[in-house]
Amino acid sequence: MLRLYYAYKSLVKGLKELDLRSSSVPCNLVLSGENAFPVVMNSDGHVLMAASRYGRGRVVVLSHERYLTLSPALVENAVIWLGGGESENLSLGVHQNLKAVADNLSKSNFQVSLVEGFSGSLGVSVYVSDAYQVGASAGDLVAFIKAGGGVLIGGQAWNWAAQNPNENLILQFSGNKVSGVAGIYFSDQYAKGENLPISPEIPTSWKSLNNEMNITKDLEFLLKGISEFDIRGSAAPSEALIHGALAFPIGTTNDGHAFLAGSYYGRGRVILATHETFLGEEKLASFWNNAFHWLDQGRNGVIGFGQWANILPNLEFTSEKTTFRQDLSVYVCTVWSEEDPEKIQNFVAEGGGLVVVGQAWSWATENGCFSNLCISCVLGNKILNKMGLSVMKKTVSKDIFKTPEPSKANYLHFRHLLHRLASHAIDGTELTKQDEEHFEQLRLKFSYFLSIKAYDSSVYTQTLSKVTDIVRICKPTVGNFSKENPLKSPKDHTLLNLAIDLYDYSLNKDAFLTYLMKNISKLPEVNNQTVQIIAQTEADEEWISTGLYLSPGMKTWITVPPNLVKDQWKIQIGCQSDRLYDREEYYRPPVVIKTFPVTSERMQVWNVWGGLIYLVAPPNVTANEEVVVEVAVSAPYYKSGESEDWSSIREAPAPWAEFEFENIILTAPSHFIRNLEFPLELEKMWNDIMRGIADLSVIPHKFIRKERIVADVQIAAGWMHAGYPVMIHFSTASRLFSLEYIKTTGLWGELHELGHNQQKSYMEFRLYTKEATCNLWALYVNEEVIGANGVTPEFRKGVVEKYINGGRNLSDWYTWTAFETYMQLQERFGWDAFKKVFAAYQKMSNFPSDNEGKMNLYAETFSQTVNMNLTGFLKAWGWPIETATEEKLSSLPPWSDHLMAQYS
Ligand SMILES: [Zn+2]
Repeated sequence: MLRLYYAYKSLVKGLKELDLRSSSVPCNLVLSGENAFPVVMNSDGHVLMAASRYGRGRVVVLSHERYLTLSPALVENAVIWLGGGESENLSLGVHQNLKAVADNLSKSNFQVSLVEGFSGSLGVSVYVSDAYQVGASAGDLVAFIKAGGGVLIGGQAWNWAAQNPNENLILQFSGNKVSGVAGIYFSDQYAKGENLPISPEIPTSWKSLNNEMNITKDLEFLLKGISEFDIRGSAAPSEALIHGALAFPIGTTNDGHAFLAGSYYGRGRVILATHETFLGEEKLASFWNNAFHWLDQGRNGVIGFGQWANILPNLEFTSEKTTFRQDLSVYVCTVWSEEDPEKIQNFVAEGGGLVVVGQAWSWATENGCFSNLCISCVLGNKILNKMGLSVMKKTVSKDIFKTPEPSKANYLHFRHLLHRLASHAIDGTELTKQDEEHFEQLRLKFSYFLSIKAYDSSVYTQTLSKVTDIVRICKPTVGNFSKENPLKSPKDHTLLNLAIDLYDYSLNKDAFLTYLMKNISKLPEVNNQTVQIIAQTEADEEWISTGLYLSPGMKTWITVPPNLVKDQWKIQIGCQSDRLYDREEYYRPPVVIKTFPVTSERMQVWNVWGGLIYLVAPPNVTANEEVVVEVAVSAPYYKSGESEDWSSIREAPAPWAEFEFENIILTAPSHFIRNLEFPLELEKMWNDIMRGIADLSVIPHKFIRKERIVADVQIAAGWMHAGYPVMIHFSTASRLFSLEYIKTTGLWGELHELGHNQQKSYMEFRLYTKEATCNLWALYVNEEVIGANGVTPEFRKGVVEKYINGGRNLSDWYTWTAFETYMQLQERFGWDAFKKVFAAYQKMSNFPSDNEGKMNLYAETFSQTVNMNLTGFLKAWGWPIETATEEKLSSLPPWSDHLMAQYS
């Protein structure tokens, strides 16, 4: 992007401000494509001067012809830049209408000739004209620019647009026939000339986010005679991402995901259809007829169908199968075509029509590609991205969808959503309910757009600047919230989420960080830390702790051995893995964990929010390797058998601490452990607890993967929840480290969640037992290992009576009620019976998948394990015991003196 910066610098050289106040009313210039950038922007975000490149040449546009005389210094800079940077003996052709301009320029070192119009034989380096006289020689001028010439045009288009309401402004306005090729378009919007300071960088403003050309007439044309798109059928279309200023959806799902889209590019037009079968689809025939007429622009030329694109029958054009050729009117290719992107882009820029069809998911999936917008897997995106469209791996739903209302089709364009969000956040304009509902889409679309990573494209970097502008202005609300002062409004949520995504793509992360956070305290750092990474994984991936931490926004390099690259390890910063996008209030940002796939032996990693550093081992690997972390902060990290100097470990500066025991790792804010004594007794307790869990499950005492419990200020669901890691709130974190608490009160919630992690679907009766059987581990460990009390008899009696009085409906049999059944079995047959049942199941295979089948199998297995027929007992609980099960167990003595017998 330095190229653009230097171009801008030469265009404004020596200027501090620019006084464009006059009676002349300029128009807004709309920019698109990778080369066009604003040089002068007014306080409304309207572009009054822009520059661009095409081929080997350059173009500068002023939004009123009056400006060609109003600021001679600016025009002189422009002419020099257009001439390639040298002012000596530069030969200029100036249209005869602009005599005053020619006179001004003659005062400098230029050879100026007044001419009647442009022709290739003028032999000048730069041509200067108003916007109204260039149309007739547009073809020659475009060829002149492409070959290295420079063109300076001044003019406005609102007057022409008012006089020619039925003409196409983009294609028919004289000035656009030339500057459009380079992505600068005269629009019909009035702008105002002001006295403007010259900014040190290329000017940018969030207000310019909705600078665009009106495409209503294009959509009316494309949708003529069509009221709906029927895309049912076997094909799974991809979603089209619409990001260019001149790009628009044509067919979308009801919630605004596009499968047909169009755009202008230069002087040409493009259509994207996100499944290859759309092309031959009978139900889309009228659309395609409209589309080819739109793309052909009335030339009545030849349509070329490339490899894998079948000629459409009944098309009102001459069609042929061909590779790409310049003399075609419209070229049709698939997203997988290995075409030369630049050739096709130039073809379209100069007026050609292009159809790209195909989905992106099959190639991306085949290549194991994670990216939603891969340009290596989906070559078509190399052509399309610059045209403001992309095809994503993500698919859309299939149905019959109404065609959009042409004037409202672009309502969900992420630039518009961004503009409305910013207007609301900065200028206080009202938001509609509908806008708020679409913020989630805005977040997603913006993050897909960011992943294009087109840093060499002006439109991309300009968009980054505009959104950075929004974040910079709004930082008081973005960087300032907590549990006590949560972030509540959808506006603030969205601003924060955009900022989080943008940070990762920002080219100036350090500056950006100051908009997101204030007062980042600098912690003492350690350098070149070697960490031993030992892993032996089976079915699941596993986080390996390093005992190191990165502060918010801190970056480090990590060197890993080749095996970790080969086996597709990951590096992870942070461990609070819950995503909170759907929470109404944020106590913390919705995502605070960041993962980097290890793709090379030296990786730079960071997390805007900071976090502990982990290596993530993939499933089924064995490793004993060393990694080196260049710079980090030491964390209080206690590891069984390795951490002796506890008094210094607990003082380590990082704000997050970890205790790694035999089978579990506990993570919490460091202040919970700063005053803890050497945790040997605590370690013994946790080792016993985890062995207890293993005992009941009848699995080896050494867990294949250590469990993790992580504390967080806010979690995705409930009071705690199961998983890897088990997530708990800060409010319950201290008891993890309190031997006293555990011994006197017991631990229920944590063991309930660890119990969830032990549940096996083949023994669970969906919905009924999910929140019941997990308590078996909680009860077992509390009673048998910790020596704490389980559930009180009064509570239990109440549960049973309520169930009986309610009529013993299985639909009421869940949570504590269901657990009561298991507790009664446990009281009569002991924990050993459960262990034997677990063991028996481990030897079985081919389990029934329905609840009824599973419950009968359980009745049978438990009965045979305890040598007693339990069907009477289970039927008393309302279980659907089948006659066949009863017959199978009829030889066993029945259990009849159970607690439920009194209720029969
Ligand atoms: Zn639960």
